[in-house]
Amino acid sequence: MDIRIRDGIVCEVGELLRPEDSEDVIDARNAYVAPGFIDMHVHLREPGNPEKETIATGCAAAVAGGFTAVGAMPNTHPALDTPEMVRWVIEAAAAAGLARVYPIAAITHGRQGKEPVDYAGLAGAGAVAFSDDGSTIESAIVQTSAALRAGKSGRAFITHCENAAIKQRDEFDPAAEASAVVRDIAIARATSVPWHIAHVSTHAALEAIASAKHARVACTAEATPHHLVFTRMDAEGLGAAAKVHPPLRSADDVAALRKAVRNGTIDAFASDHAPHADTTSPGFSGLEIAIGAYALALPDLPLRRYVEMLSCNPARILGVPGGTLVVGSPADVTIFADRDWVVDPKEFYSKGKCTPFAGMTLPRRAIATIVAGSAVMQNYRVAAWSTR
Ligand SMILES: [Zn+2]
Repeated sequence: MDIRIRDGIVCEVGELLRPEDSEDVIDARNAYVAPGFIDMHVHLREPGNPEKETIATGCAAAVAGGFTAVGAMPNTHPALDTPEMVRWVIEAAAAAGLARVYPIAAITHGRQGKEPVDYAGLAGAGAVAFSDDGSTIESAIVQTSAALRAGKSGRAFITHCENAAIKQRDEFDPAAEASAVVRDIAIARATSVPWHIAHVSTHAALEAIASAKHARVACTAEATPHHLVFTRMDAEGLGAAAKVHPPLRSADDVAALRKAVRNGTIDAFASDHAPHADTTSPGFSGLEIAIGAYALALPDLPLRRYVEMLSCNPARILGVPGGTLVVGSPADVTIFADRDWVVDPKEFYSKGKCTPFAGMTLPRRAIATIVAGSAVMQNYRVAAWSTR
């Protein structure tokens, strides 16, 4: 099929379309054409830490990695907890002119886990979801009342599930995650607020999510590239490049996570792109390795399911446009190919050069990224980047 794009919209899909005089043609032979990929969990570091990443460098990394849109987490400095800050992020993203950026606002003031924010005001300003990602709200009462109030705004509610007390005693105890997931599912069930669980990493948490879905609790979940590829055993060889929250897990957990992607317990891939200026802070750059890493972890995953995990489901969970190329939809397109390439973090557009995937060969890569009809990345180069 060919796709004709006009004024930022898909206007025709069909076989052997004839290019008209003024139209540019992108040749996607030997590649796949998909609705734009959406990474619903990234850290863009602005405001507060432009030495780690700016909205512009994060957006360049996004389109280099094949993502037409990202969900920007609120653990910035200060945290994204006012309508003014949400509007500022949207304006900075528009100025960068690369990927679409969907701000995710904090659940509590300063992500302190105590005072609720202005959910209606934040939603009105453009926040697509609420999350205190990076932290787990300790009080079940605060979590419950926040979910009920945020739920009225019609926005997604996303939680980072790690019980701090268990984690403090033993950083790698899988019960830290599982106990927080079980609690949040109980609150989701009681409140009927659509719930999304970030970066699930343990077999026990996956069993809890599978049983919640079986009971028709409105919950969804995501998996990261690093949790799908690496185990605790790999962490020893990776050194500082393996430090992340939640931590890398056992081979059994990794196998369970891959299975959960195949059977639908996990709904979305999300990179948890967490750039740092040093190599000792937890988390790492993920946008530019993500789609290759998912293919590496799950070489047998049907393409239809792969695209669902990267485009349709993130769009549905966040309630944003995308996930389709039907006529009339926004012309956000990812073109990718099964082509081996070696990860060299020096080539990242992201300021974060730390990744456990450095030096690895990945089997899939984005070759062009089109946002609102504009080819912002072609042949691994981000448009107009060298002029900045
Ligand atoms: Zn998190």
